[in-house]
Amino acid sequence: MDFIPIDVPLDAAQALRDSEANFRTFFETIDDLIFVGDPEGHILYANPAVARKLGYSTEELLASTILDMHPRNVQDEATEILGAMVRRERDACPLPLATKSGGLLPVETRIWIGRWNGRDCIFGICKDLSAEREATQRFERLFRNNPALMALSGLDDKRFVDVNEAFLSTLGYTPAEVVGRSAMELDLFPHPEQHRQAARELAEQGRIQSFAIQVRHRDGSLLDGLFSGELIISQGKQYFLTVMHDITALKRAESELRRINAVMKHQTTVAHDLAAQAQAANAAKSEFLANMSHEIRTPMNAVLGMNGLLLDTALTTEQRRYAETVQSSGEALLALINDILDLSKIEAGQLTLEALDFELEPELENALEMVRVRAIQKGLALTCNIDADVPAALSGDPGRLRQVLVNLAGNAVKFTDRGGVAIRVSLQRSDNIGLVLHFSVRDTGIGISGEQHGRLFGQFSQVDASTTRRYGGTGLGLAISKQLAQLMGGEIGVISDAGRGSEFWFTARFGRSAVASQPTVAASGSPRPSLPNDFVGYVLVAEDNIVNQQVALAFLRKLGVRADAVGNGREAIAALQSTPYDLVLMDVQMPVMDGFDATRAIRSSRGPRSGVPIVAMTALAMEGDRERCLEAGMEDYISKPIAAAALVRVLERWLPR
Ligand code: ADP
Repeated sequence: MDFIPIDVPLDAAQALRDSEANFRTFFETIDDLIFVGDPEGHILYANPAVARKLGYSTEELLASTILDMHPRNVQDEATEILGAMVRRERDACPLPLATKSGGLLPVETRIWIGRWNGRDCIFGICKDLSAEREATQRFERLFRNNPALMALSGLDDKRFVDVNEAFLSTLGYTPAEVVGRSAMELDLFPHPEQHRQAARELAEQGRIQSFAIQVRHRDGSLLDGLFSGELIISQGKQYFLTVMHDITALKRAESELRRINAVMKHQTTVAHDLAAQAQAANAAKSEFLANMSHEIRTPMNAVLGMNGLLLDTALTTEQRRYAETVQSSGEALLALINDILDLSKIEAGQLTLEALDFELEPELENALEMVRVRAIQKGLALTCNIDADVPAALSGDPGRLRQVLVNLAGNAVKFTDRGGVAIRVSLQRSDNIGLVLHFSVRDTGIGISGEQHGRLFGQFSQVDASTTRRYGGTGLGLAISKQLAQLMGGEIGVISDAGRGSEFWFTARFGRSAVASQPTVAASGSPRPSLPNDFVGYVLVAEDNIVNQQVALAFLRKLGVRADAVGNGREAIAALQSTPYDLVLMDVQMPVMDGFDATRAIRSSRGPRSGVPIVAMTALAMEGDRERCLEAGMEDYISKPIAAAALVRVLERWLPR
């Protein structure tokens, strides 16, 4: 191929040669397809892009026409368009070219007429559109299938040019209703100021991102959206491309969450209020119980005390039997009151455990002493085993431990008629803070069916009503035992079946103790020591209840002590001014002036008796009473009903022998 005509002067020929070289380089490196054809369209030259993109060899190209490069089915149309372009009636031909293998190459073809090698020729340049087409297709797919609402609108008139399926279905429109109209005309935005702000940002910055906006559905309902948009150029024209994410459901969920949150907050407040009320009610109940137990204990004090005195007099056999029945019934009633009081104390959180050093074995013996008499009477064997690895000396609350053991062992004896009761103590766990002991009380008695186990440890629960009739009891023992075991850091449980005996067990945590202190106070089941009667002294009893006065005076006289009685605090103060008493037993609750006020008055007076020892007598047995008495200036404390042994201990402390 030679571009240089022969009849050109030399220097001009050189210039032409340079130009030809430039053109050749240009033609051979350009990505577009370039053809040169004769007026009939026979190909005289094709650049390498043609061979590369359509797959023909140079020989094949030189044997073909430009028309042959088009797919067969558009060749007629191509003839027409090329003709029109030659006549300058059209600028470009949009028809694709065909590859040798049958594929299509999208191009835009332009032609011009020129001369080449001294003859008229057609120059054709086909711009390869495949990359552009691909990008368009990709955009198209993205636009059509996007779950977000997408729209393309004109820059100036703001009218929709195209919208996607999500736009139509979410807002309830058909394409015909939308295309060609603006958002304003469709009244899409219920808050024009929002729309104006979005439009302003879009215009000023060329883009807008995640702008919260409300949109109106065709049916009038409102949707929440996050709106983004930007300016794009497509085929030389500027458009707005906008994308909106429908966050209505999200917003609704959020507000629902907020509502649920508010409801929950409210309910929590209500629950707190209820809990506070329940707590107050429970505190009131505990208080009531404490007070009621005072009301019951005061006359009980009189009943048991007087009856005790009666039993010390000469009685006929019949009278003695009656009095003994009164005594045992009174003691049972007192036990019940103590149970109720224990429970109310535990529930009010007022029962605190002691941490004393004690020896386990004597403590166990003491506890068993209390049930042994019954066991012997019923002909039952009562055994107790302590595993060798259980430490002898412990630190804990021996009184509460004894209470649980006596409860369980007492029940075991009560509900067993043949065989025996075996107690075993083993070491369950030992760690750096102490140890956990496991106590088991096993009997061969009537047993308890499985479905009853759950209720056993509740309050006032007995396996069946006939139990009360046959065996007595209140149904409080196990409830208290459970609470005590838990207070001691342990648990309680039962293994039993009807007719097969029972094993009640509990665990409790103890500290280790190097040396055990002296054995704890003898249990009430042990033989009573005979009362001493060699006290020397003069005692004043301040007590408003006449019967209680009599009981106290009678006890005191039995112990060899002189004693007077007054009915209230004011009388006590007056009596002290005239008589040199060595000790005052002061009831706490009295009319006119109570024991606290009287004590404070005595302590603050300058009289010779202001230092007299004052011992409170009170039926209030709640935690804190002792402290109140000591605070008022009393030295000691004795709980009513007054037991002889307790009175002896008080006198031993405060009177000479
Ligand atoms: P109660 O004062 O009635 O004995 P408890 O709380 O100590 O109260 O016991 C509740 C009930 O559990 C008893 O009434 C009895 O029905 C049952 N129970 C307790 N211990 C035993 C046992 N060792 N054998 C059979 N039944 C028992």
